Amino acid sequence: MSINIWHPFTQHGLGEPIPEIARAEGASLYQADGTRIIDAISSWWVQTHGHCHPRIVAAIQDQSARLDQIIFAGWTHEPARELATGLADFLPESLEHIFFSDSGSTAVEVALKMALGYWHNRGEARQKILVMEHSYHGDTIGAMSVGARGVFNQAYAPLLFDVGTIAFPEAGAEQQTLDQLAAFCKDSENPPAALIVEPLILGAGGMKTYSPAILAEMVAICRAHDVLFIADEVMTGWGRTGTVFACEQGCVEPDILCMAKGLTGGVIPLAVTAATDAIYQAHFSKDRAQMFFHSSSFTANPIACAAANANLAIWRDEPVQQRIDGIIASHQAFADRLKQKSNISGLRQCGTILALEIDDDAGDYMSDLGPQLLGFFRNRNILLRPLGNTIYIMPPYCITLEELAAIYRVIEEAIDHFGNC
Ligand SMILES: *Cc1c(COP(=O)(O)O)cnc(C)c1O
Repeated sequence: MSINIWHPFTQHGLGEPIPEIARAEGASLYQADGTRIIDAISSWWVQTHGHCHPRIVAAIQDQSARLDQIIFAGWTHEPARELATGLADFLPESLEHIFFSDSGSTAVEVALKMALGYWHNRGEARQKILVMEHSYHGDTIGAMSVGARGVFNQAYAPLLFDVGTIAFPEAGAEQQTLDQLAAFCKDSENPPAALIVEPLILGAGGMKTYSPAILAEMVAICRAHDVLFIADEVMTGWGRTGTVFACEQGCVEPDILCMAKGLTGGVIPLAVTAATDAIYQAHFSKDRAQMFFHSSSFTANPIACAAANANLAIWRDEPVQQRIDGIIASHQAFADRLKQKSNISGLRQCGTILALEIDDDAGDYMSDLGPQLLGFFRNRNILLRPLGNTIYIMPPYCITLEELAAIYRVIEEAIDHFGNC
């Protein structure tokens, strides 16, 4: 008997090739025959410093030989304590407590449970979660419930809970979003528990961007009505938007912040949900019924925590911000060049992320252009994975200007090849 591997977000019925990668270094992926592929999307938005960074590799090797795993309910270990201490240098001051889990989706589930637990333990009937149109927060049931509904989750609709949805703040129509948020917040019949958003840029929803000022206004409305603000920084965290966390640019301090992907440099799964003291205190009691009822087997796995500590050390000791600023400047120059093209639209940049739409006739995720582009880039040894007709670049920060130039060249080629003129 042979067992087949079922890949994520893959329609095996289309028979598309599934290339194999043997090793990786920096921004390069290598196949067994030596073929080099440039990783232009950080291996699905997770890698920040580049593949196999020696410091993270060493931390994992050391830790795995010393303490590999220990139950975290009622026990602790040094890598977790070190990470808690270290995160204080990166997080807003008001986020005094961290809870560990294993992925972005579980970090979001934890955040939702913390928000509901907060109101429950305080004896206030607030259960509604507010969300933003086009959002993505993960693929578990709760995370799907607060994310955009569509072909991705149609089959599972009976499992998803109801939410209040505010419009995406399209440029020029931001006031509508703010008014909708205010209306939900003022609803005394059904007062919301929390608003969850991806700050500044919606990732899987199509790399849609909005301004730090709008983020700040949304938070101000939440504050005015005691609605908790949850920042899903699973993608935006660890430098993607130009600052360590996107919330910094709006000068906002969320009540709850979710991080995952880049927390370990994108090497090994680990997630953190950070919360204010008020959230923690709502669960702090002599009453066991008020504890936070959540765990997973590998909560705060020591090897993963050691990798995260190495990530923090790299941020402290290496010119990470300089590398990010280099990518930002390089993207800007490319964007200026692209402005001469007539067959693209929506050109936008948010920190190290550059995105655009190729004008075609059926521009949504299910359009055939997506798979065609994927193949086009794969044949040219660039790992890019367009969202429908949206092409975006999200490189690891170690990427060189030559590697970026190679990515830009192939994207221009794709625009000329596929775009309607
Ligand atoms: C990727 C992502 C998630 C889910 O993270 P996983 O680790 O894939 O479960 C949640 N929120 C956002 C904004 C993401 O980009």
